[in-house]
Amino acid sequence: MKVVHTICPGCSVGCGIDLIIKDNKVVGTYPNKRHPINEGKNCLYGQNCYKIISHEKRLEKPLIKKNGKFVEVSWDEALNFIAENLKKYNPEDITFIASGKCTNEDNYALKKLADNLKAKIGHCICNSPKANYAEISTTIDDIENAKNIIIIGDVFSEHALIGRKVVKAKDKGAKVTIFNIEEKDILKLNADKFVKVDSYEDIDLGNVDENTIIIINAPIDVDKMPKIAKVLPVAKHCNTVGATLIGIPPLNKDEYFELLKNSKFLYIMGENPALIDKDALKNTEFLVVQDIIMSETAELADVVLPSSCWAEKNGTFTNTDKRIQKINKAVNPPGEAMDDYLIIKSLAEKLGIDLGFNSLEDIQKEITKVIL
Ligand code: SF4
Repeated sequence: MKVVHTICPGCSVGCGIDLIIKDNKVVGTYPNKRHPINEGKNCLYGQNCYKIISHEKRLEKPLIKKNGKFVEVSWDEALNFIAENLKKYNPEDITFIASGKCTNEDNYALKKLADNLKAKIGHCICNSPKANYAEISTTIDDIENAKNIIIIGDVFSEHALIGRKVVKAKDKGAKVTIFNIEEKDILKLNADKFVKVDSYEDIDLGNVDENTIIIINAPIDVDKMPKIAKVLPVAKHCNTVGATLIGIPPLNKDEYFELLKNSKFLYIMGENPALIDKDALKNTEFLVVQDIIMSETAELADVVLPSSCWAEKNGTFTNTDKRIQKINKAVNPPGEAMDDYLIIKSLAEKLGIDLGFNSLEDIQKEITKVIL
């Protein structure tokens, strides 16, 4: 048995997690005891995050749809087929969808390819707050020292380890006010004052001063918050912030589906929009899905490319308070699945494009220049 330390992919809090490996399989998790965010705890979602690794629908071979049915093909055939079709479209008809669930390195590679082709690129921030993360300096550690905590949305159910920091602050005397559209026992239990709201627009926050921290877990504009307080936006996915900081436009749900509807050639990495709206893809003439499992969106694709999941690769995630944290490869990917950035590099080569990197380290050097 061996243990590999990595970062939980469950949400943007970025807790440390230890994967327990037996016979080259991840069989369970331990919370990392020395990680400063989670201090030896993981939420239930985090504890179970390893189960996706052996999901029954894991993709192992590239697939091309022939006469309505997927046929296993070689990487060469799949990438040549994509490259031939991509060349038929004008840049304005081509869209790449990046993902807050993929690493900085994978997203950066996809952005480089999109930029080279002068194509559109974006990633969906779903219900995350709209924030200029480059300007946010509040950290998760600030929660514990705040005297007044205002929470917009539900961090207790969705980002439990932030909820734990709030509980610790409350034990030290902080006053906690929670605004949420749903009345929930867990919120009422942890708040000094709970306010049920119909919408998150125009909330009366009450007294706010420099000892106040406003934690936002709702799709609202962070810029509208009082400047005197510290503001901590909590993004949804493990690398929503990283994808945004490396320059991929963040899209709210409406903008995301609008972009999908207006794309003839669509390349989706690690996202599953058909789960929400199958019609969003009805104008797409050629669809490529690069993912770890056969999702609802992959079922609709012309080509499906199997990628390695977070436990099967090295790279980095940037959490909601902008900590760039290393994730470590614990096991090999199944079948012929490859790291996303390597798939993108191979496709670029088929198109005669040099993305300018040969290794993960090359990309990391470039990312450091962009983010820091
Ligand atoms: S709070 Fe988020 S990062 Fe932490 S263990 Fe839970 S899902 Fe994972």
